[in-house]
Amino acid sequence: MKNIYLDHAATTPLSEKAFEAMKPYFSDIFGNANSQHMYGRDGAKAVSEARQTIAECIGAKPSEIYFTSCGTEADNWALKGIAAQLKDKGKHIITSVIEHPAIYTTCKQLEKFGYEVTYLPVDGEGFVSVQALENAIRPDTVLVSVMFANNEIGTIQPIKELCEVAHKHGVLFHTDAVQATGAIRYDVKDLGVDMLSMSAHKFYGPKGMGALYARNGMRIEKLLTGGEQERAHRGGTTNVPGAVGMAVALKEAVDNIEKDAAYVGGLRDDFVKKVLARIDDIYYNGAKDSSKRLYNNANFSFRYIEGESILFSLDLAGISASSGSACSSGSLEPSRTLLSIGVPIGTAHGSIRFTFGKRNTQEDVDYTVDELVRTVEKLRAMSPLYKK
Ligand SMILES: *Cc1c(COP(=O)(O)O)cnc(C)c1O
Repeated sequence: MKNIYLDHAATTPLSEKAFEAMKPYFSDIFGNANSQHMYGRDGAKAVSEARQTIAECIGAKPSEIYFTSCGTEADNWALKGIAAQLKDKGKHIITSVIEHPAIYTTCKQLEKFGYEVTYLPVDGEGFVSVQALENAIRPDTVLVSVMFANNEIGTIQPIKELCEVAHKHGVLFHTDAVQATGAIRYDVKDLGVDMLSMSAHKFYGPKGMGALYARNGMRIEKLLTGGEQERAHRGGTTNVPGAVGMAVALKEAVDNIEKDAAYVGGLRDDFVKKVLARIDDIYYNGAKDSSKRLYNNANFSFRYIEGESILFSLDLAGISASSGSACSSGSLEPSRTLLSIGVPIGTAHGSIRFTFGKRNTQEDVDYTVDELVRTVEKLRAMSPLYKK
């Protein structure tokens, strides 16, 4: 039985190096990093080194890194923290229509709390327009949040340009960089962003560990009130093994970024080329220019058939892919992202995302192409919509 994992945008396997580094902090070095004794000091030292490593990987200072329990928490904190901090300045937030649910549903909740949110549209490849952002900024706008790279179609936004426009009008800028971190080399000072979210399990780190970068001098209301952890900005006992594993995984990812991009990107490009050559009535969704697309992402819509049926059939063949995004699959709603780039609703239902990773091989690609061709032919033969 084959076992081919092609869902790295949902999560990645834990790096061996990160796993090894984490182990002592589950056993001997179990102290609470805030305790004033040897056990505590050893934990605190590990957390402080992890913070330093993560800061170096993104061009930040250690004092600008705040650990969180996941990417979702970092996103919630950025949005709700600024909404609360600046409520007397204004109650208008700008985001995009293709954000991950961690941002999108947080904006929906803020609307219930009396905030106004503008959801910027995207073009046919999923890009937000810098001009559209500038037009949407109002005197009462307090925050712009646009994702760095999209989790479904891989489109990479012009973050630096978007951020410049927000700043020109005195508005803070946050980016959800959960998919970008470890996959794209960036420097927060060069990007100019005020806040940035990341999540360890998307770059071969442990699940349940994230971080918010917040530029020094920024003021942000707490999301989790409690003890004095994270320099009194986020209550909750620090996840020491999580912080250690996150730092080791991020450094490994960033140190190997060009090598991994070349290898994994090569597999993805070959996969896309072969699928487009062998299957008709298909759309390749997202950015066409591969320099503006996550190197591991391929997203297709197959006309006349259901994505769920394709997935089920691939799963039986030992291939794990995703229909749209893990976060919205399970609901039978078509993907908001695909509808936003103009995929017709019926076709959006026939969409599959394949996201490749470091452990995939050329053999995985060829086997998956063959199975996909077989699956699509079989399902179309049964589809009343398909006539050939
Ligand atoms: C996975 C993901 C998140 C959520 O991160 P978690 O650590 O799983 O909460 C947020 N944004 C994007 C773009 C993601 O891909």
